[in-house]
Amino acid sequence: MAHSGSGGIEYECIRCGSRISVEDLAYAPDLKCPHCGYKVLRKIRQSIVKRVKAR
Ligand SMILES: [Zn+2]
Repeated sequence: MAHSGSGGIEYECIRCGSRISVEDLAYAPDLKCPHCGYKVLRKIRQSIVKRVKAR
């Protein structure tokens, strides 16, 4: 299982605030925003909504 990063991790540009998924970053050699080119990105995690069985 060499495929990692399927946990719903995204990066958010602290300059323009656009969210970049790890799949979009795979095309970029450096961690930078594809929109504005800013190199400072913030790693954010998507909140996974767990289904709770209602009784
Ligand atoms: Zn940006």
